[in-house]
Amino acid sequence: MQIDSLRKLYEEELKDLHSMERQIIQALPKMIKAASNDELKSSLEEHLQVTKEQLERLDSIFAQLGKRGQGKKCKGMEGVLEEGKELLEEDIAPEVLDAGIIAAAQHVEHYEIAGYGTVVAYARLLGERAAEKLLAQSLVEEKEADRKLTELAEATVNAEAEAVAVG
Ligand code: FE
Ligand code: ZN
Ligand code: FE
Repeated sequence: MQIDSLRKLYEEELKDLHSMERQIIQALPKMIKAASNDELKSSLEEHLQVTKEQLERLDSIFAQLGKRGQGKKCKGMEGVLEEGKELLEEDIAPEVLDAGIIAAAQHVEHYEIAGYGTVVAYARLLGERAAEKLLAQSLVEEKEADRKLTELAEATVNAEAEAVAVG
């Protein structure tokens, strides 16, 4: 594929995000099931719904461009999610697993934040005003999800993990 313009790069980055969101929608139910803390469970469930809306936003942007969002796999997100999955397979105390799930989820959010930050800037430069608004909305949601996870970790989950008796 020849990427000879910022517009092409923009479309490639959008496809990358499309793949990220699809992979996250697949992975989140396993993380929700594995989580013990109720607040963690519900905040991941909420973010799953938000993620589905984010995918719809990307679909509407692709529809507007007359293109398809499919056809690319984000290998970065694949790796990030794979590491999260490995944790679920460990012999691990539930409280410690919760802390690990938060860590994994925050890696996901930060990766997405990088992607959305980029396409918001490109959309602005390319004069794609409607897309810019939609992408900025998703960016705000990812940052909010990340902030909530930090709050949850620091308010309760990390301390509960730390309190697990050794041996
Ligand atoms: Fe997302
Ligand atoms: Zn990627
Ligand atoms: Fe997210």
